[in-house]
This record gives sequence, C-alpha cells and structure tokens, in this order.
Amino acid sequence: HELRTPLTIMRGELEVALKRPRTPEEYHAILSSNLEETKKVGNLLGDLLALARFDSSSSQLSREPADVLSMMQEIIEDMETLAARKVIIIELAGQEGVVIPLDKPKIMRAFINIIDNAVKYTPERGKISVEVIRTGQAAVVSITDSGIGIPDEDLPHIFDRFYQVDKSRSSQGFGLGLSITKTIIEAHGGSITVESSVGSGTTFLVSLPIPANQADSLNIQVT
Ligand code: ATP
Ligand code: MG
Repeated sequence: HELRTPLTIMRGELEVALKRPRTPEEYHAILSSNLEETKKVGNLLGDLLALARFDSSSSQLSREPADVLSMMQEIIEDMETLAARKVIIIELAGQEGVVIPLDKPKIMRAFINIIDNAVKYTPERGKISVEVIRTGQAAVVSITDSGIGIPDEDLPHIFDRFYQVDKSRSSQGFGLGLSITKTIIEAHGGSITVESSVGSGTTFLVSLPIPANQADSLNIQVT
C-alpha cells in the first residue's frame, strides 16, 4: 500500500499529462510532482532495505568506541537546520567520557529518526532537550520534546512497522522510522521506552549497555 500510493499518483499524473499537448509550465508542474513521488518511493525502499538487511544479520555490527555525548552533538548539528525552520531549539546536556563500542552510522540513524520525529511532531517555537546520563551499566539518552504527544492507546504500537498514530498528522513518512530505531538499538543490546502526554510532549529513553569490563575499570566496585 505504501508503495502503491505514490506510484498510483505518478501514473495518474503522467496519463493525464499525455492525453493532450501541455504548456511548458504544465509539464514542469507534473514533472516536479513526479520527482517528489520518486523521492518518496526511493526513501521507502531505502528504509525497507535497511530493515531487511538488519533482520537477516543483526549481529553484523561494526563497532568502534564512541563518546555518546559528542555523537549526540554531531547529530544535533545535522538536525539544526531542520529544527530552525520551525524555530525549534535543541538543547544538549550531560557528561562527556561515556564511551561505548557502537556501530556509529547505524546508531546515529536510530537517534536521527527519534529527533526527526521530535521536530516533526512539535509545533513552531517548541523545544527539544537531549540528555546523556551514565548509570552503573548503561548510557541513557533521553530525548524530550514539547510536542503534540501520543495518545496512551497508541503508545504500545508506535514501534511497529508502518504504524502511524494518525495518517493526517504524519502526511509525509511511512511509519518506519521508530521500527528501524528499535531494531538498531536492540541489535546493540540496548532498549528504548517512551512516555508521552497528549498536548504537552513526549520523552524517549534509550539505554545502551556499557560493556562489563569497561564498567569495572571505570568506577564500579566489584565485591
Ligand atoms: P517515518 O519515520 O517513516 O517518516 P513516521 O514518523 O510517521 O514516519 P515513526 O517515526 O515510526 O513513523 O513514528 C510512528 C508514529 O508515532 C508517528 O506517525 C507519530 O504519530 C508518532 N510519534 C513518533 N514520535 C513522536 C513524537 N515525538 N511526538 C508525537 N508523536 C510521535
Ligand atoms: Mg518518523
């Protein structure tokens, strides 16, 4: 269905366009619209391929030590232009030196999907706060937005493939972002949870385990 819709739109427009001669402006409008739909199909196929590859080889992570706070800083810098268009501020807090072996491109994709949602589902002039906290055996990253929130009955489903709370409020997108995020985080041995209240905002908590030997050597007293 998600693939068929943009293809149907493209086909319809092309058929109408070919029925009779058009002005250059009309051709331009039709081709631009078709280009948009092509991009959507391309994005969807990219997401689906990423998911499929991951399912068959979740152990194939290429991990390298990464400082979680600097990685979040890097992600936020990438997302700032998008947020600025809606005058949304992204804040970052937390401690440096929480270093975990991560497949950086994949885990960055996971966090980008969460922050992309935070921007998408937060009205203009809102705020997004990201915090990195170190607990005994894990790095916990919280992402809180001041957005529209998610109804209680939808919360258990938002990590499902193709699940969208309300088609009208998520006109772009396919409901794949969070399922990709969850798959990537779980492949790293981590977990993701969500709390939300409609009208005031949403918090995602991502917990990534710190390898045992590293936790020992840093500050954990083993008795
Ligand atoms: P895609 O990520 O594929 O572009 P999407 O954003 O609709 O599409 P998901 O990222 O998987 O899909 O999110 C699923 C649904 O959960 C969204 O459609 C949206 O309704 C809801 N949601 C996710 N994050 C938030 C948020 N921060 N605030 C409010 N609703 C959210
Ligand atoms: Mg999304």
